[in-house]
Amino acid sequence: MKFAQFAAICEKLERTSSYIEMKKTLAQFFKNADKKDVKRAAYLLLGTIEPSYSDINLGIAENMALRSLENAFDVKNIKAASRKTGDIGETAEQYAHSKPSLTIPEVFDTLHKIAAASGQGSQDKKVNLLSSLFKKCSAIEARYLARLCLGQLRLGVGDKTILEALADAFADKSAKKDLEHAFTIRPDIGTIAQTLADKGINAVRRIGVQVGTPIQMMLCQRIENLEELKQRTGFPVAVETKYDGERIQAHKKGKIITLFSRRLENITKQFPEITEALLKLTGDFIVEGEAVAVDANGGILPFQTMMQRRRKHNVEEYSKKIPVALKLFDCLYFNSKTLMSKSYPERYTALAKLLKKGKTLQLADRTLCSNSSCADEFFQNIVVGGGEGIVIKSLKADSSYQAGVRGWHWIKWKPEYVKGMRDTFDLVVVGAYFGRGRRAGKYGALLCAAYDDKNDKFETFCKLGTGFKDTDLAHFFKLLKRTDTKPALVNCSTAMEPDVWVVPEIVVEVAGAEITKSPTHTTGYALRFPRFLRIREKKPEQATSVKEIKKMIN
Ligand code: ATP
Repeated sequence: MKFAQFAAICEKLERTSSYIEMKKTLAQFFKNADKKDVKRAAYLLLGTIEPSYSDINLGIAENMALRSLENAFDVKNIKAASRKTGDIGETAEQYAHSKPSLTIPEVFDTLHKIAAASGQGSQDKKVNLLSSLFKKCSAIEARYLARLCLGQLRLGVGDKTILEALADAFADKSAKKDLEHAFTIRPDIGTIAQTLADKGINAVRRIGVQVGTPIQMMLCQRIENLEELKQRTGFPVAVETKYDGERIQAHKKGKIITLFSRRLENITKQFPEITEALLKLTGDFIVEGEAVAVDANGGILPFQTMMQRRRKHNVEEYSKKIPVALKLFDCLYFNSKTLMSKSYPERYTALAKLLKKGKTLQLADRTLCSNSSCADEFFQNIVVGGGEGIVIKSLKADSSYQAGVRGWHWIKWKPEYVKGMRDTFDLVVVGAYFGRGRRAGKYGALLCAAYDDKNDKFETFCKLGTGFKDTDLAHFFKLLKRTDTKPALVNCSTAMEPDVWVVPEIVVEVAGAEITKSPTHTTGYALRFPRFLRIREKKPEQATSVKEIKKMIN
């Protein structure tokens, strides 16, 4: 399949703002695609070459892309030209005039080689590989290749849009649910797309758990009072400590351990002591728990201490300084069998069986309760000890593990709910406003959005300017990735337009006083007196949804 077809679809998508039109355009593109290239095309549309949980990183910085353009077209000082256009894509297209000949496999394989190049001389190798592609590009191909390399494709296409378009292209409407379900247990858009194109929807339905590939994590619902448990889960229930650390899904296959974060990122290297402890257990499995920092006596240390373990360097040193324990609470797979459709008691039995006594791996504290006052008693003890709260888990025969679902099998209960206070919101930063006075030279406020899962878009909800320490502001200035234009997945009214747009990938926890109707925020609501609490380790699609906000209003 020609790369020109990909470039043409990018141009069309860029000009479309309607979600329905986008889906139609994408479905048509997949229908016309060479079957063997469907996987590659799906990844490229998302601006990547591998599933999002893989460690692959193109590693192309702007300077390297500019050098590649200079190399390819034998010109100097493209940087100046690029400053004028403000967009690497527009810069690249000014120089590229070849007849389109590139194929999708050729681009895809070269990008893989670029990603794989490491060590001495790798920068030059990357530049040479990239310029070999630019040399063969037509203007429009160069535009999208350049943006692709720098992670600036901005087509407004998310996983959900692609899954829906795939259903329209290769199956029918009824297939959407199956595709979405497959994506929760195999969050790899390329594999799902190729399976559907080659073998049809029945093969997608058979996609199962693969040890080493993360499963989207099950989430908790909220209740108004503990009495509600009667109708939600019924009794008895398991009541567990809700640890405030980092959720980890641990996979063991033979001697290979892979640890995934809540964002499904591979974080194995961060926790050598967990890896070591898991290797001592017998069999292949997938288990889940919360990693917490512990003191010499096994006492749990605050979340802030735990966060110091989120690091790429000096890991060994910090694992001695701040050891962690993994408080385990679920088992999704054991020795060639998925346990996801089994009830929680069955999964818990499997988990308890495979564990050995040790310091690093422990079962989460829990008790079984047959009424709400028992749950409350457990909760009060946790709160007195400074804990975050409890998670109440259904023990019914249908209490399966619901991947990626915020369902009623798990219910959280925290001190703030008791006081009748609203829960906090997890919002995606989509833009920023420059600060003044003490905040000059940094951002003074952030534009935050909720996720609309119906349309796969981020809708604005508040301008966040309080709760920051000076160090937070300096951190945000470095952390947020600026983009020149509004990210296509973001909806924002002109009244709220920020000074800079940022890639919608950072999720922040925000407290607020109340929700009011708003003509300026695109959720239709605004959070009054928002206050920053912390950065959350979540994917943007896991942020508070517009649906949840509407539910809170009601
Ligand atoms: P919150 O902001 O309240 O932590 P959240 O949106 O991050 O919520 P939820 O699914 O609503 O996530 O709450 C469950 C989270 O609590 C899990 O993602 C997990 O990280 C953490 N957790 C701690 N202890 C447990 C436990 N015993 N069982 C399940 N989850 C637990």
